[in-house]
Amino acid sequence: MDCIFCKIVNGEIPSYKFYENDKIIAFLDINPDCDGHTLIIPKKHFTDLDDIDIDTLKCINESAKEIKKILEKKLGCAGMSLIQNNGSVQEIKHYHLHIKPYYKNKKSIEMIKYPEFINDPKDIYDKLKSSK
Ligand code: AMP
Ligand code: ZN
Repeated sequence: MDCIFCKIVNGEIPSYKFYENDKIIAFLDINPDCDGHTLIIPKKHFTDLDDIDIDTLKCINESAKEIKKILEKKLGCAGMSLIQNNGSVQEIKHYHLHIKPYYKNKKSIEMIKYPEFINDPKDIYDKLKSSK
């Protein structure tokens, strides 16, 4: 199947992956709406909320709890939104949960208006991977 997220799971194309377990991976969105914009995806291909099974959904949400802590600790965000698109608003047809952090002086909505304030995902990845 010609699915870009399956290719990321298989390592056929690169990603800023910073979290993984046997069922899911999490990596930074390549075109972020805010610093730390993360996608959690199942390793197995599911299209959308109709297609995915409850066990995998549970695993994605358990991982979201862990990833929330990582983003708070490493990036100092003050809040975050979890969003999952389906149907006509879903660009990539491999189930994914967006995590979009907010910052005290730099809300995501302002970053969408002023994308020049958003850092390169590479720099955010380095922060997430640092031992500090
Ligand atoms: P959606 O509209 O929910 O399907 O959003 C798809 C998201 O995937 C968008 O935010 C894209 O920026 C993101 N995206 C597309 N290709 C890649 C990629 N190769 N690596 C990381 N994120 C990607
Ligand atoms: Zn896929």
